[in-house]
Amino acid sequence: MSTIAAALEAARGKLPASEARLLLGHVLGKSAAWQIAHHDEVLGEDSLLHFASLVARRTGGEPIAYLLGRREFFGRTFVVSNAVLIPRPETELLVELGLQKLGDGDTASPDPRVLDLGTGSGCIAITLALELLSLSVTAVDASATALKVAEANAERLGARLRLLQSDWFAELAGEQFELIVANPPYIAASDSHLGVGDLRHEPVTALASGVDGLADLRRIIAEAPRHLAAGGWLLLEHGYDQAKAVHDLLQQAGLVEIEQQCDLAGIVRVSGGRAN
Ligand code: GLN
Repeated sequence: MSTIAAALEAARGKLPASEARLLLGHVLGKSAAWQIAHHDEVLGEDSLLHFASLVARRTGGEPIAYLLGRREFFGRTFVVSNAVLIPRPETELLVELGLQKLGDGDTASPDPRVLDLGTGSGCIAITLALELLSLSVTAVDASATALKVAEANAERLGARLRLLQSDWFAELAGEQFELIVANPPYIAASDSHLGVGDLRHEPVTALASGVDGLADLRRIIAEAPRHLAAGGWLLLEHGYDQAKAVHDLLQQAGLVEIEQQCDLAGIVRVSGGRAN
């Protein structure tokens, strides 16, 4: 027999108290405040076993977001599984810039068409669709499993969008958009970070991109001009050391008004350009 307090005590030293509370809260479907108020309540055998298995998986390095099956992004809760990248706070910058471009007026279109490439959990596309209801949003991913996660999020959050299985622009022949956004894989395949922390458990196809991490960014930037409406914007998240390379690629693709923005850590994290 074990109370809530005893179960949390047993997890001490194995993981931070805040994580233990989150995991137990997940098992019980209860908030931290509820757990504090009910600390002497006895836990059922099933709950105890479930909690112990989550603690063991967390101790083994599985990301907390996958264990909880959710992660906050732009003030909303998204369901996640190990089929999708865990939404990152720095990606909110991409969303903010996208909203800014669409709200600028000179992207002139009453219901702008937006494309999110490699949508994963759908966090970028769904946030844009919910923040600006006039948008017509298309989100693509090469992974059918990822699209299922995005679909579940769109449904839960009440966002309207078109989901399509596509290897970047492959299934979008002839289509154009006022805004194209992407948080593609951009880590070099040999980068040791891929073997550290949460990244070990995330889909490598969402993280790694060729020898220099630029393989997918190159493809996207080269093909984007054909899919941008006149005056439309391409906005991309990229790695901490890729600002110059991405700037050059955008220029080579004939895009103008090239912009680069820093994330909260002061790292140039999003770059973009506009179709003439
Ligand atoms: N920003 C992520 C990281 O470095 C990588 C995400 C990506 O490749 N798009 O952990």
